[in-house]
Amino acid sequence: MSDVYFTSAGGWIEVICGVMFSGKSEELIRRVRRAIIARRRVQVFKSHLDERYSGIYAVSTHDGRAVDAVPVDNSAEIAGKIDPTAHVVAIDEAQFLDRGIVALATSLASRGRRVIVAGTDTDFRGEPFGAMPQLMAVAELVDKLHAICVICGSPASRNQRLIDGKPARYDSPTIMIGASDSYQARCRHCHSCPRADEDQVTLL
Ligand code: ADP
Ligand code: ZN
Repeated sequence: MSDVYFTSAGGWIEVICGVMFSGKSEELIRRVRRAIIARRRVQVFKSHLDERYSGIYAVSTHDGRAVDAVPVDNSAEIAGKIDPTAHVVAIDEAQFLDRGIVALATSLASRGRRVIVAGTDTDFRGEPFGAMPQLMAVAELVDKLHAICVICGSPASRNQRLIDGKPARYDSPTIMIGASDSYQARCRHCHSCPRADEDQVTLL
């Protein structure tokens, strides 16, 4: 796996992407734990916007495992909190961060840090999410994980958003923290995100 990638000068970017429930946090925690076993100094950050399960001071998985994390609102806050002695900088839920995360990850890698970035690469519409596409482009390593489609059991590559149990429409806002919406992992075929003009198209 990706945590055996080395360069002689040190410093690279790894991206772990995929839909919700695909195991990104699990994989980030696995890499962080192994770096700690290798006696590397590791810093973990995560966006404030994700507060699931063990609260905002840890990266936790859907099955309850966790490592300590520093909550941040934006890339400048990460830049201000970087420990100059850290070997590894891990960032979870990167899709919620601003575009400055691309320059920051690049600069950290250029200065010898191993940068591990995890995030959902597509939003509920199935479209690129935040700075994830740019991060995937500049990374040395990209792992795209899949969940299991809750409808048909195929590999899931889409985040199905439901509002009051119905598929969210294309024009609903991307981030609605605390609202009565929920998410499921689905495959392309089972994913649904109706556009405003779709009702008319199906009548043609
Ligand atoms: P992510 O960070 O990508 O949202 P997590 O690492 O937090 O994912 O959680 C992955 C875990 O979620 C899996 O190991 C599994 O136990 C659980 N899980 C729940 N629903 C699903 C699903 N539909 N497909 C795959 N795993 C699921
Ligand atoms: Zn499916």
